[in-house]
Amino acid sequence: MSSSYDVIVIGSGAGGGTLVHHLAPSGTRILLLERGGWLPREPQNWSVGDVFIDNRYISADTWYDAKGKPFQPQIHYFVGGATKLYGAALYRLRAEDFGELKHHDGISPAWPIDYADMEPYYTMAEQLYQVHGAHGEDPTDPPASAEYPFPALSHEPRIQQLSDDLAAAGYHPFHAPCGVLRDEANPPFSACIRCATCDGFPCLVHAKSDAEVLAVRPALEHDTVTLLTDARATKLLTNDAGTAVIGVEVERGGEHETYTADIVVVSCGAANSAKLLLASANDAHPNGLANGSDQVGRNYMFHNSQAVLALSKEPNPTLFQKTLGLNDFYFGADDFDFPLGNIQMIGKSQSDMFKGEKPTETKLAPGFALRDVASHAVDFWLSTEDLPVAENRVTLERDGHVKLSYSATNGTPADRLYHRLKSMLGHLGMHPDHLIPRHAYLKTDIPVAGVAHQAGTCRFGKDPASSVLNTDCRAHEVDNLYVVDTSFFPSIGAVNPALTAMANALRVGDHLLERLGA
Ligand SMILES: Cc1cc2nc3c(=O)[nH]c(=O)nc-3n(C[C@H](O)[C@H](O)[C@H](O)COP(=O)(O)OP(=O)(O)OC[C@H]3O[C@@H](n4cnc5c(N)ncnc54)[C@H](O)[C@@H]3O)c2cc1C
Ligand code: SF4
Repeated sequence: MSSSYDVIVIGSGAGGGTLVHHLAPSGTRILLLERGGWLPREPQNWSVGDVFIDNRYISADTWYDAKGKPFQPQIHYFVGGATKLYGAALYRLRAEDFGELKHHDGISPAWPIDYADMEPYYTMAEQLYQVHGAHGEDPTDPPASAEYPFPALSHEPRIQQLSDDLAAAGYHPFHAPCGVLRDEANPPFSACIRCATCDGFPCLVHAKSDAEVLAVRPALEHDTVTLLTDARATKLLTNDAGTAVIGVEVERGGEHETYTADIVVVSCGAANSAKLLLASANDAHPNGLANGSDQVGRNYMFHNSQAVLALSKEPNPTLFQKTLGLNDFYFGADDFDFPLGNIQMIGKSQSDMFKGEKPTETKLAPGFALRDVASHAVDFWLSTEDLPVAENRVTLERDGHVKLSYSATNGTPADRLYHRLKSMLGHLGMHPDHLIPRHAYLKTDIPVAGVAHQAGTCRFGKDPASSVLNTDCRAHEVDNLYVVDTSFFPSIGAVNPALTAMANALRVGDHLLERLGA
């Protein structure tokens, strides 16, 4: 089967879904290929046991580490991609992240565009994804040309207390940018109910600002947009000279099909986009498509992250915990000249998550039964930037599976960030000696978030010798091939990546509209 479109977009997550939404009103004929299906709406969406213990929505892929050991990546193949399960903390990178930054373990390289180039698209993405926040509360916040479309989500009482205590101790807590469909002035007419099963769960009532709900579904209202689900792109075919993609091979329902379009956009997530390009090697591109620079798959990053749990002296009955952030150590600390990173809250620990715990771990919290741990837990997410390293890379095993070689960078600042927070607990109404990795209690909590924040395998840049994509995210070597997922990041900063992928997709979308004359 073969059809012709103006644009084929492969992958419907933060990058691909947003791009399709932006192109759709122009009447561009778009084919959106998504390897997953619609995430089923079912009671299990909000079941801790099904989601956290049984990994109901994690795809059954097998990847291999550097030593060839198989593992199951925390990856989600659905319409909307990883945004179906994400925490919807929708941060802008800091303006300084677009320049070169000196870190403890090396240099975080400059981007080939400035923050000012991205700013209008961050604003547009915040509108599209209905972000709640308050620009300027956080001293590291970059300038914004418009306020958030919704005021910041209020803190629940224990988190408000945490915010007050932080401020009293001289820190600068801020309301974290959150993407949920809630008007706090009108809760009865809000889709979002502020529940405890958001971060890491699908939203049963479609009230999360994810790419399915806010990008793909509205785009499909245009009859020039076609979505094929369960359609996995397996190879990109080029002309003999290798200068243009002339077909996308797809596996769908056991059949092999080829689709054609003037422009092909890859947005499969950082690891899978690298996989697709590497698997598309041909005579004109012997090392993988668009890989003359040998950069495809390299510089994989995913944040040096820690999910930790502190114990409040008073119970913490918070339901929606992700409303607070702290960037006082983003660029360093009084006793450390290098960036430490971002502190934010994660979804609240719940007692059902503790099923299967090892009894000895009660020792970690003297005097606390495990059920008390759940009711008193205050959960933090610490993100330190990891640096792009050529050897941290995606390659393909003989059988075509992803091999992910990765060694962490910036361990010292990550450790310092942890100890900083720990040293603050006594002032925050929490047990001062207790800040432990969540996976010590929650056997199934995924250390360092698996591959959730994957980025960087096809970085954009001005020099074709050291980058895969040009500043429009078009492959240097292939005239009609673009990549718009987090692969294009030359560095990852220390805040969550999705809003940057969304904003960049809008930026590339404007370029494509101009190129198509649409
Ligand atoms: C549990 C969790 C929590 C997170 N929380 C946050 C958060 O709070 N804030 C934040 O900013 N980020 C968060 N993230 C990360 C965020 O979701 C990702 O950074 C973002 O979705 C990446 O967008 P993307 O377009 O690169 O990839 P994705 O959104 O993953 O989209 C890739 C899409 O491509 C499809 N695909 C893959 N291969 C193929 C193929 N061969 N053919 C066809 N389709 C294919 C996939 O099925 C998927 O739909 C979280 C992620 C997870 C997993
Ligand atoms: S908090 Fe709101 S957006 Fe998140 S899962 Fe609950 S209802 Fe959905």
